[in-house]
Amino acid sequence: MTDERNPEYLSPEVLDANLRIGKPAESAGGAAAVKVGLTTSVKQMGVARAISALLDVNQKTGFDCPGCAWPDPENHRSVAEFCENGAKAIAEEATLKRVTAEFFAAHSINELSRQSDHWLGQQGRLTRPMYLPKGATHYQPISWKDAFHKIGNKLKSLGSPNDAVFYTSGRTSNEAAFLYQLFVRLFGTNNLPDCSNMCHESSGLAMNHTIGTGKGTVSLKDFDFADCIVVIGQNPGTNHPRMLRTLQDAVRRGCKIISINPLVETGLKRFGHPQEISGFFGSGTRLATHHLPVKINGDVALLKGIQKVILDEATPRIDLDFIAQFTEGFEALRTNLHSVTWEEIVEGSGISEKDIREVADVIASSKAMICCWAMGLTQHQNAVSNIQEIINLLLLGGHFGRPGAGACPVRGHSNVQGDRTMGIWERPSHDFLRRLGAEFHFTPPHAHGYSTVEAIEAMHAGKVKIFFALGGNFLSAAPDTAYTAHGLNLCELTVQVSTKLNRSHLITGDEALILPCLGRTERDLQASGAQFVCVEDSMGVVHSSQGRLDPASTELMSEPAIVVALAQATLGTTLGVDWSEFVGNYDTIRDRIAAVIPGFENLNSRIRTPNGFELPNAVRDSREFRTASKKALFTVHPIPHLNVGPGQFVMTTIRSHDQYNTTIYGLEDRYRGIHNGRRVVLMNADDMAAQKLSANDAVDIVSHHLGKQRRAKNFRVVAYEIPRGCLATYFPEANVLVPIDSFAKTSHTPTSKSIIVSLEKVPSDR
Ligand code: SF4
Repeated sequence: MTDERNPEYLSPEVLDANLRIGKPAESAGGAAAVKVGLTTSVKQMGVARAISALLDVNQKTGFDCPGCAWPDPENHRSVAEFCENGAKAIAEEATLKRVTAEFFAAHSINELSRQSDHWLGQQGRLTRPMYLPKGATHYQPISWKDAFHKIGNKLKSLGSPNDAVFYTSGRTSNEAAFLYQLFVRLFGTNNLPDCSNMCHESSGLAMNHTIGTGKGTVSLKDFDFADCIVVIGQNPGTNHPRMLRTLQDAVRRGCKIISINPLVETGLKRFGHPQEISGFFGSGTRLATHHLPVKINGDVALLKGIQKVILDEATPRIDLDFIAQFTEGFEALRTNLHSVTWEEIVEGSGISEKDIREVADVIASSKAMICCWAMGLTQHQNAVSNIQEIINLLLLGGHFGRPGAGACPVRGHSNVQGDRTMGIWERPSHDFLRRLGAEFHFTPPHAHGYSTVEAIEAMHAGKVKIFFALGGNFLSAAPDTAYTAHGLNLCELTVQVSTKLNRSHLITGDEALILPCLGRTERDLQASGAQFVCVEDSMGVVHSSQGRLDPASTELMSEPAIVVALAQATLGTTLGVDWSEFVGNYDTIRDRIAAVIPGFENLNSRIRTPNGFELPNAVRDSREFRTASKKALFTVHPIPHLNVGPGQFVMTTIRSHDQYNTTIYGLEDRYRGIHNGRRVVLMNADDMAAQKLSANDAVDIVSHHLGKQRRAKNFRVVAYEIPRGCLATYFPEANVLVPIDSFAKTSHTPTSKSIIVSLEKVPSDR
């Protein structure tokens, strides 16, 4: 793979030259967050653009932060309604740096592949469509017209619509997502994998089966009423930072915060609100009242332990009326919990019976409890069980459909939930397809399409000729990087709709196209004037987003305009849809959304209200469980056992504080005390001693799965507070170790949070 055409590196596996390890921070937020957020913003955007963008983000008439999906407060929005990492996400998109045609002429694919993901992202915004002909070593400019002509002809030449895959990243607006799925289904396939497949797919499936909805059942205001908030498998300090303010308000009301995570994350230790004097200068507020350092994938055992304590009490503190009226399966659960032994629970969770009992007491005495979770639960083979054990715990206390109580899967990408609501799913419901077909007078395909893992396997098997990505950095986000790269290389054409340069532009099919689009922060002018789009946050609130910055280039197209041009080049008006009606004024798109998607009626008037609107949620609004039996289901799950051999560990992949998914803002993980580097493996000091390893030793990490090994080279060992037998590394660097055939049952979510690995010391002469 080292010829000029095929990149030498999937990502450079070189030791960090200037790595520095310090102490983890004791408090999140504060002056440091303001300093980093503002310096990054001014460095990337300059003063004027930074001020304009930061004063507009998350405001009622502004644009939605391109970071995470944490909701905005309904009533009071502060002047600075953003966090440090929100500022970084905006600075990344609104940077003044540019990647021009001249840049591509000066850098071959192979040369670019030797650069780190951070370096690639720091080159700036793409400015015009670029094309990589078969056998070429450099991208070259192409007109939009020729680009769409090329894609359209290629799609029309396929033997089957299923020879193409259409991927979606969670930043795509509702309008673009709705048009995209319409186009793909009119084209004739459900091959619509998305980033949700790799993150909360397990949550959706687990909840749909047990409580009849795949979405969270709380709103932001519920956090004002909870007396206990469990944060499990989530690191809000880095991934949803404004959540810390919400938790701080809750703690000040006397609410108990229970943190469950193999790592002690700074964001759940203390938080200084930068807009408070005490928070700016002081050490802030202690958040978690309890922290349980569960071992990696020890959540089922721990949650069963907590339930066992509650049910074994002489007079169990459970909501018997709720259980009797709204649930089924309780007796099977009680029988199972009686039979589970404390040895199994303590061994499986890594937590002592005493600590479990202490937390169970807090939970049992709660009148209104919210459970929040993220990837720490969803990316395991038993991910669906993890989440259903949380549902069991909530059902025992009747914590659904009342203020301050419910399930809260915290979404990553800012509109990942919205995209799914718009129909971006390879397993669409019959009801959705019926509604879509009725509105557009066609019979959509019903056969399920490829999930992300299935799409990669199909590419690897040479079954996919065209891979089209609406946003994202597919290669770096996907598991098993080398396997995925090979699959992409087997495609005849790969197309990336992007704002910034990333590694997915370097690992391509025979031919490749980069289509640069407008970002969230930028003005989107169409025939009827400036357009806005709408997004849906993690709690089901749909609101508008309108950018006002000058676009990075006059040659950018908006996502909806790109989808329309793609459809016109491929389908024309053959199937009775006049695509041209959708670009001039996005109200036309929203009218069709209103006609097809339940809960979006009168969208164009409701989306113009200052806070947008909250989608109906049967569980939250009326304790209605839309399962087959119309009852919420208690479920019984075995304690999982990972086959960890002698000298092997369970590794989890994590984000640093200077990254958002695969976007690397910088090399600083300030909260964990890791500076100027990313190729690190966090390890328990006793395990290091047992392995005769010292801090800063260089190691290779080797994963073991079904007799196959995968290697990632050159990591430095860092002593860290993590349970014995557990390791942590950053993704995307460690994704090369995640086996394609290791995924969560039913949801197919890659098991990026629990990989069996061993460490090999790097010989000093290498
Ligand atoms: S919490 Fe999330 S949505 Fe809010 S500003 Fe920060 S990154 Fe953006």
